[in-house]
Amino acid sequence: MANGEEAVPVIRAARGDVPFYREHGFHHPRAVEGTFRRVKWWAMAALLAVWHLAPFLRWDRGPGAPDQAILIDMPGRRAYFFFIEIWPQEVYYLTGLLLLAGVALFLMSALAGRVWCGFLCWQTVYTDLFIEVERLILGDRPRRMEFDRAPLSAGKVGRVALVNATWLAIAAACGISFTLYFGDAFATLREIFTGQAGSGTYLFILVIGGFCFLLAGYARERVCVYMCPYARFQSAMFDEHSLIVSYEAWRGEPRGPARKGQSFEGRGHCVDCRACVQSCPTGTDIRFGNQLSCIGCALCIDACNTVMDRFGLPRGLISYDSSANMQAREKGGKTRFRLIRPRTLVYFALLAIVGSAMVVSLAFRSGTEVNVLHERAPLFVVLSNGGVRNGYVYKILNMVREDRDYRLSLEGLPGATLDVIGGESGVTATTLHADRDTVATYRVYVTAPPGEGMARRTALTFVLTTPDGRVVKTGDMFAGPDK
Ligand code: SF4
Ligand code: SF4
Repeated sequence: MANGEEAVPVIRAARGDVPFYREHGFHHPRAVEGTFRRVKWWAMAALLAVWHLAPFLRWDRGPGAPDQAILIDMPGRRAYFFFIEIWPQEVYYLTGLLLLAGVALFLMSALAGRVWCGFLCWQTVYTDLFIEVERLILGDRPRRMEFDRAPLSAGKVGRVALVNATWLAIAAACGISFTLYFGDAFATLREIFTGQAGSGTYLFILVIGGFCFLLAGYARERVCVYMCPYARFQSAMFDEHSLIVSYEAWRGEPRGPARKGQSFEGRGHCVDCRACVQSCPTGTDIRFGNQLSCIGCALCIDACNTVMDRFGLPRGLISYDSSANMQAREKGGKTRFRLIRPRTLVYFALLAIVGSAMVVSLAFRSGTEVNVLHERAPLFVVLSNGGVRNGYVYKILNMVREDRDYRLSLEGLPGATLDVIGGESGVTATTLHADRDTVATYRVYVTAPPGEGMARRTALTFVLTTPDGRVVKTGDMFAGPDK
C-alpha cells in the first residue's frame, strides 16, 4: 500500500503542471485539534444520530395509520413526514423539496464555500469516521506510515482485519438504517436480525452498506476529487465575498523552516512544516490557492493555528475568509462579511418563494384530489332523442382519515345530466362516496340535452364539493358530432 506525501492527490489544473488524475495510495491525514475539528465532531454526531434514530420516532396518526414519524410506505404508496402525508399524485412536493435543497446548497456555497462538503456531506462524515477508526487501531499518521512499511506479519494482518471488520459493522449499520425508513422500524429491525426480512431488505443492506464501506473506507477523497459533480461547478457559485479556506500568501511568503524564538523579520510566517498538508483529508496543499480537491473542511486552519501558536505568531495564516477581505487585509484596510449580495439575494428570494408556496399549499390542502379520464371508445354517443352522451372515469382520492360523501355537479354544459353506474341517473348533481384514505373510482356518463353539446369540443367542468364546503373543479371536454 503506497502512502506518504508524494502519493497525495492534488489537482491544480490551473497551474498546468499537474495531471488531472494521478494514481496514488492511501493518504493518512494527521490528527488535529481546534475549533473546526470540534465543529466537525459535533456535526458528525448530530447527523449520525438523526440518521440512525429518526426511524424510531413515533407520530400518532389515528387508528389504522402507521405511527412512524418518517416513513416511505412503498406498498401503501405513501410517504409520511410527521404530520405531512404525501400521496404519489402529490409528487410535486418532492420536486419542491429538491428545489429547496438545491437552492439552499447554492446559498450555502455563495456564503461559505464548500461548507456542505467539508462538514455535512455523507461521504465526508463517513470518511471522517472511518479514518478515526483506523487511527484508533493503527495509530496516527507517523505510526500509520510505519505500519505500512512494516513487513507482513500475523499481527499486521490481524489489525488490518480489525479495521475492516469495524468499518463493515459501521457500513452495515448504515445500510440497516436505510431500510428502516421503508417499514416499521422496530418490526423491520427484529425481522433483519431473526432472518425473517425479505430478500429485498437484505439486498438494500448489502448495496448501501457495500457502497458505504467502499466509498468511505477505500475510495475516500477520490470520491470528492474525481467522482462528485458538485466539485466541478462549485466555484461558479463563489464570488469575492464567499468565505473559503485561504492561505494569506502575502503574510506567509517567503516561507522557510524556522526555530522557536527566532525573528521573523524579513521573511514570511509560513515555517514550511507541512502540517496543513498532512492534516488535510484530501492531501491538498492550500498554499497553492483554492483548488478542486479542497473540500473546505478547515482542518488545515486548525493545524496551522497550532503552529502559529507554537511560534508566537498571529493566528489566521490559513483562515476561513473571502478573497475581498484577504486583499483588504493585505493592504491594511478594513474587512467585513457581506451577507447581502445580488446572488445571495436571488437565492434567498428563491428559497422564500418556493418555501412559502409549499407551506401555503400544504396549509390549504383540501385532502381531496380528483382525476378524470375521458372514455375514448366511443368518444361520444348520439342518443335517439338527439341528446349526446360522453363517458368518464371519475376518481376521488380521499386523503383524510374519515369516510366522506361528496356532491358532484357540472358547469359549462347547460341542462346536462349525470348517470353514475351503480348510483343515481338523470340528475344534475349526485352524491359520491369515498372511504377514508382510499381512491374511489366511478364510471360517470354526462348527457347533454338535444341541441346542446353538438360542437366537436365543449369545455366541461366537474365540480366536486367536499363535506366541509371546499370545491375541487376539474376541467375536461365534452365531445360532440360537430353539427
Ligand atoms: S501549517 Fe502553516 S506554517 Fe505550516 S506549512 Fe502550512 S501554512 Fe505553513
Ligand atoms: S485544504 Fe484545508 S480545507 Fe481544504 S480539504 Fe484540505 S484541510 Fe480541508
